[in-house]
Amino acid sequence: MAHTICVLDTTLRDGMQGIEVSFSLSDKIQIAHELDELGIDIIEGGFPLSNEKEAAFFREIKKETFRHAALASFGSTRKPGRPAREDAHIKALLDAETPVVVVVGKTWKAHIEKVLKTTAQENLDMIFDSVGYLKSEGRRVVFDLEHFFDGYKDDPAYALEVLKTGTRAGADYLVLCDTNGGVLPMEVSQVLRQLPQTELSPLGVHFHNDTGSGAANSLIALAEGARHVQGTINGWGERCGNANLCVILPTIALKLKYPCGANQHIAKITSLSRFVFEKANIIPDKRQPYVGEAAFSHKAGQHADVLAKADYLMEHTDSRLVGNERRILLSELAGKSTILDRLSGYGDFDKDSPQVETLIKTLKTQEAKGYEYEAAEASFDILIRKALGIFTPLAELGNYHLESFKTGDAPSKTVGRIFLRVHGKEVMGAAVGSGPVETLDRALRSALVPFFPFITSIALTDYKVRVLNAETTGAGAKVRVFVSFTDHRQHTWDTVGVSENIEEASWEALVDSLDYYFNTFGKEPGEVSSEQ
Ligand SMILES: [Zn+2]
Repeated sequence: MAHTICVLDTTLRDGMQGIEVSFSLSDKIQIAHELDELGIDIIEGGFPLSNEKEAAFFREIKKETFRHAALASFGSTRKPGRPAREDAHIKALLDAETPVVVVVGKTWKAHIEKVLKTTAQENLDMIFDSVGYLKSEGRRVVFDLEHFFDGYKDDPAYALEVLKTGTRAGADYLVLCDTNGGVLPMEVSQVLRQLPQTELSPLGVHFHNDTGSGAANSLIALAEGARHVQGTINGWGERCGNANLCVILPTIALKLKYPCGANQHIAKITSLSRFVFEKANIIPDKRQPYVGEAAFSHKAGQHADVLAKADYLMEHTDSRLVGNERRILLSELAGKSTILDRLSGYGDFDKDSPQVETLIKTLKTQEAKGYEYEAAEASFDILIRKALGIFTPLAELGNYHLESFKTGDAPSKTVGRIFLRVHGKEVMGAAVGSGPVETLDRALRSALVPFFPFITSIALTDYKVRVLNAETTGAGAKVRVFVSFTDHRQHTWDTVGVSENIEEASWEALVDSLDYYFNTFGKEPGEVSSEQ
């Protein structure tokens, strides 16, 4: 493939139409910079006419400079019966002052008749006039053909006429959109082969994931000659989402080896994916290809054994190329090689090292008590540090008190005090929260922040409780608590606590989380390196 693929990211437009996805203005600007760093060619910022928030984004983003990416505003072709230069949508696109505009027009006759309520000929005129006018105003124009595949199935001659009209008007890319998301990879291949690509402006594609084929459709379209691809980070978007750039871009870079601006920065994709999750306050999807925490995770001891012989025997690509990392999950199946893999970050150990024996014993004892480290690697890291004698606790607990109360119909509250010893000094923390875990977390922070300012930059993101030995309901049952933390950037980590008392189990997991971050990333007390 000789042409460089142009990538348009629509996380800030189509992505925000996804369920539970919302970004503030400053989030959007930060995400745009991260997309630029990845080497994305066009960042679709939104629909400037839709509301004041979107218009504000285009005003603010003008003040920013980008290394590589061009900003795009998004809107539709002019309305029927009025010239483009007098149309409010077209005017809003120009007022956004972006070098690129994405203008969406109809291809499917049923939509032209039922939604636009105009004729097939007027639709062609609207496209020609809108694209041509935006070109005459010096913009690069990406013409999105809404419902292209449905329109093509219904009336291929008309769909082709729409493509030719866009070409004559000077569109830089004609983007075949599968707006309903129902098209299948073999249909994409068939349609692209039927189109007279050499007579048309370069083709692009915009897929949705309603049959789970968003990324596959995009890759097939590129193989069939498309030169522009649209998608979103983490595959967010309307309904089941858009084609996932976190799948498409690593595949282009590492497998297809097509020329693409993101190829040389593809190692940033894992951190970008997690950054976007954090900004949307959504827990990262562990099972995402390439970028998920589970993407290079191995469970059984036997897998770890094979991996130790050669990576390619168990992994389709090198996790480091996408900025991810291999994880060996711990479980009762864990063999010595799993433990060895974990220890390899701490020095040279072999199967007969006493530390390996100690850790296997510790792991078995802890698992018998109800601990589970597969989803709490940070707690296991602390076990390793303890076994190796390189663990430094943040503080020593004196005691804590918690008191919960409820008045009438008002929500219950918990007040708490914590007494700790830090660097030989007695310190106290106090807090009020809506429940014991929140109160413990806040009280612990209030006591430790003066000594360890990094604590202000990390946050609890998830808390899960499971009742163990479920048949033993009531007071005797143990609970297992998992907590997840983030530093809002590169790192997320999980810890575990087990007790008959939920407050105690929570306390254990919270303290492990702070200790883990301190021991892994802290240099001196009060100082945490920003780099890993
Ligand atoms: Zn879409």
